[in-house]
Amino acid sequence: MSDDRSKGIILIGAPGSGKGTQAKKLKDQLGYAHISTGDLLRAAVKEGTALGQKAKGFMDAGQLVPDDLVIDLLEEALQTPEAKAGFMLDGFPRTMPQADALDAVVTIDKVIDLQVPFELIEERVTGRRMSPSGHVYHIEYNPPKVDERCDVTGEALYQRSDDTPEKVRERLAKFDSETRPVIAHYQQKGVVVAVDGVGDPEEVFTRIMAVM
Ligand code: AMP
Repeated sequence: MSDDRSKGIILIGAPGSGKGTQAKKLKDQLGYAHISTGDLLRAAVKEGTALGQKAKGFMDAGQLVPDDLVIDLLEEALQTPEAKAGFMLDGFPRTMPQADALDAVVTIDKVIDLQVPFELIEERVTGRRMSPSGHVYHIEYNPPKVDERCDVTGEALYQRSDDTPEKVRERLAKFDSETRPVIAHYQQKGVVVAVDGVGDPEEVFTRIMAVM
């Protein structure tokens, strides 16, 4: 295997485990390119691109977008100079075909397995509110200063269409059936580190930095 393959880490965990929040902190601290397939897909839906039109129905239903679409998107995102210098994946790979496609083109140094019990997830996800600018709030744990407005941009916050209790349950079931085998796959390679994702985001970040 040649040494010139790009290298990076994966943040893996159930929906609502805090992958996105921690990825942003890690990006600030380590300068890795942050690649979130969920963010890329939401941007494609918003722009109404061909990919966005194909992906929207799956996303609204809380289902996974077909592998071929997501793999194409990811391979494109890995081409930037920033990603080639070191990347951090958030929300990819979620299935074994995605992991195989990834392993074929890059080297994964570490997989951070962010663990949060399913009982805590529903409350986290259904209380989540998003700003169009990408800032994320929670109605109880991280409320905006002005009701329903982004602290940074003042834009109206919205709730993701897949952040309802029924969709969350569907997404957790998919995590069990499709994504747990991905964690097992990287465990066999000896690169997985489990991190307790319960608690204040700063505390969780300290735990992640301790294993980096
Ligand atoms: P996320 O923001 O990571 O929770 O992703 C939101 C939604 O985008 C998911 O529920 C899926 O519908 C879709 N999605 C994101 N990443 C992937 C992926 N790697 N494979 C399949 N679907 C994905």
